[in-house]
Amino acid sequence: MSKKDFLPEGSQRDTGKDAQRINIYIAKLVGEAVRTTLGPKGMDKMLVNSGGEVTVTNDGVTILRELELDHPVAKMIVQIAETQEDEVGDGTTTAVVLAGELLKKAENLLDKNVHPAIISKGYRVSADISKKIAESYAFKISEKDYVKIGMTAMTGKGSEDHKELLSKIVCEAIKIIKKDLNRKNINIEKKHGESTDKTSLIKGVVIDKERIHSSMPKEKKGKVALLDIPLEIRSPDNDAKINISDPEKIQSLFEMEESLIRNLVNKISDSGTNILFCQKGIDDLAQYLLAKKGIYACRRVKKSDMEKLSKATGAKIVSDVLDLKNNFGFAKVKSHVVGDDEITIVTECENPEVVTILVRGETSHVADEAKRAVEDAIGDVLAVYKNNKVVGGAGSFEIKLANDLRKEAKKFLGKEQLVIQAFADSLEIIPRTLAENAGKDPLDVLSSVNASGKDWPGVDVFEGVLIDALKEGIIEPLKIKIQALSSASQVANMILRIDDVILSQKSSTSE
Ligand code: ADP
Ligand code: MG
Repeated sequence: MSKKDFLPEGSQRDTGKDAQRINIYIAKLVGEAVRTTLGPKGMDKMLVNSGGEVTVTNDGVTILRELELDHPVAKMIVQIAETQEDEVGDGTTTAVVLAGELLKKAENLLDKNVHPAIISKGYRVSADISKKIAESYAFKISEKDYVKIGMTAMTGKGSEDHKELLSKIVCEAIKIIKKDLNRKNINIEKKHGESTDKTSLIKGVVIDKERIHSSMPKEKKGKVALLDIPLEIRSPDNDAKINISDPEKIQSLFEMEESLIRNLVNKISDSGTNILFCQKGIDDLAQYLLAKKGIYACRRVKKSDMEKLSKATGAKIVSDVLDLKNNFGFAKVKSHVVGDDEITIVTECENPEVVTILVRGETSHVADEAKRAVEDAIGDVLAVYKNNKVVGGAGSFEIKLANDLRKEAKKFLGKEQLVIQAFADSLEIIPRTLAENAGKDPLDVLSSVNASGKDWPGVDVFEGVLIDALKEGIIEPLKIKIQALSSASQVANMILRIDDVILSQKSSTSE
């Protein structure tokens, strides 16, 4: 009986060397898919999902997410990109490209009859040594140079032309939330219709909702109420049919409804509410009455926005108008016109350490890509605020590390030495790709490294020569680099250790 007979009909199984080769092949493919986007001269990808929605992006993790890859190995690689994104917010392409290259080099070693367990162990040792060497490279920068970190993160993105302005905004935002360096304290809202250079920093929250009645004040400062119940009698979620044929009864029902609404609005107004955010609907009558009371109100505010408002203004979300009184927050709201829309800007909040970057772009694609660039920059600048350890970019970090790791490799014998050397060689995929993506011959650039005498020899993507990355201000947080190294080597090891892939019929057709 063959091994396959254990499995249900229709399942697919690859074992031993086959499984390994297929897995490596898949990992290399995923690496190749994002490789051309790496660095300042990286190209963008246009992705069209099954619903016909178009995304144009240069962002590794976004590309991989949109591709909706099916193979389990591809999913593992996508996961490292996502971990990288969650942990540090940048360096996703680097991590994936590196993982692909580590596996490509592993394949060569397998051809030389090096056992996968030895490769896996050697890669682990290499990652550990690399981290130590990397730590020894790190240097500190002063706060005024943090803007360079954000700019390096945004180089080559769609919003490249505005990277200085965007990076300054990011740095200013982080400075405001300095006491609680959590990226959740920085909200990002995007609105298209204006150039990215109109992106602004708001010390507070932006709610993409208009005030519900044109006679409400355009600006109001005072007590903020957050309500999560509808101010309407027949809300769409509650449209029970009532059959009444007697006109008098209909009239009295209307009157009853009206008085209920009046009553609710009176209670809101009596509580002292100046500004009201309602998570549900507010009907015409309630809108009119609230406007008459001079209250600024927004309806159908997203739950996530209600939570942001609660954090910023100090108000608690309540489900009973009688509870408003003890749960107010404080802020100033202002109605603001962007393009054809009216939005609400909430500033002077009780909690001043909540900020919003209002990202603009001529079209929604441009605004989306600018938002992703800003998110990368936030990740990088936050990393430096948390831990002021920086290294040179433009491939210089990887060039230095590869050289020093090769020296360390000499301390090991036989196959282990080969594996560590392979790990070191893999690191060079980063500078090589930066050069290739800029249309330069990587050999031309890299062959002069040793003779150059440069401290941080990096790739000049314009001239195709070596530059000193540090002198050019191309710097990145150490944390991004270490995270990319460790996630890439972890996933490579995981994939190398697999010698059996079983795809049940269900899992291959159900998605
Ligand atoms: P990732 O998703 O890995 O962050 P990016 O497309 O953002 O990928 O590219 C990051 C790489 O680009 C890093 O190696 C970084 O050092 C390099 N880089 C950034 N700015 C420059 C520059 N001006 N010249 C050369 N390389 C640069
Ligand atoms: Mg990046």
